[in-house]
Amino acid sequence: FAINMDQLQLDEELGKGNYGTVKKVLHKPTKVAMAMKEIRLELDDAKLNGILMELDILHRAVSPEIVEFYGAFFIESCVYYCMEYMDAGSVDKLQGDGIPEEVLARITASMVRGLKFLKDELQIIHRDVKPTNVLMNRRGQVKLCDFGVSGQLEKSLAKTNIGCQSYMAPERIRGESQNNLGTYTVSSDVWSLGLSMIEMALGHYPYPPETYANVFAQLTAIVDGDPPELPEHFSATSKDFVARCLHKIPERRATYAELLEHPFLVEDSTREVDMPAWVESAVEARQNRTREQIQAAQDAMS
Ligand code: ADP
Repeated sequence: FAINMDQLQLDEELGKGNYGTVKKVLHKPTKVAMAMKEIRLELDDAKLNGILMELDILHRAVSPEIVEFYGAFFIESCVYYCMEYMDAGSVDKLQGDGIPEEVLARITASMVRGLKFLKDELQIIHRDVKPTNVLMNRRGQVKLCDFGVSGQLEKSLAKTNIGCQSYMAPERIRGESQNNLGTYTVSSDVWSLGLSMIEMALGHYPYPPETYANVFAQLTAIVDGDPPELPEHFSATSKDFVARCLHKIPERRATYAELLEHPFLVEDSTREVDMPAWVESAVEARQNRTREQIQAAQDAMS
């Protein structure tokens, strides 16, 4: 069945992305809580219909590591995209001062399985792997969202902040991986996975903007510098795993099958990790940080 706006009861705002707002909604006929993303696109109806048709492939993206897609519709020049509501939000806001190794391993395992599923089952390359696109729930599940399925939608999004927080592989920054057929290789996602792992371990983006004079200097560091590494206190196994992702030469990066066989993920699969407890504490810490920020803002005004 198709979802439409009349069936939805709007709830609180969950976040703002580069391209639009995400709201919590209740789908009244089924009583299912959903997350609805609004993307404003100044396009004619034919193009908007084309986007809806391209998004239809998402109905086949059913896997424990992928945020479920419920449907999309457009009103005027906005596309509304309804998906599974993930009650702990995105990992970038849960990572705090850095995620412990065992939790990082568990999150990474889900990400690799999700990326492999997209590629093997649907021939989809994610193209936007980063901690904001990794969502969690209080059950401790980890799921990917925001992968590129609609060429028309990608084309229509105003690419505003290419710089500042780039998870793009060096070859993409240099503009090489986009060959004349417009294909994008899966190994670029493996780089973004490695960079996301470092960010989750550190609690911040590994090429902090304040270290560089400008975006050009920052992108130059990604292209010409040595790849970043996990912090000192992480195990040799985890550092080796990240190094297998962050190879400057795309062909040398590990495949998903190889990553799943790496001791870092094999050890994870045999270990007990209390993910719901970690999520609980991370959500609480996030709420405290928000409260402190509000307090600080109020103090500054008075
Ligand atoms: P971006 O454009 O930066 O990738 P999004 O627009 O996808 O960001 O999402 C903005 C924020 O909304 C996210 O950081 C997350 O906190 C929240 N969010 C997005 N999707 C969901 C969802 N399915 N469930 C709960 N929260 C979500």
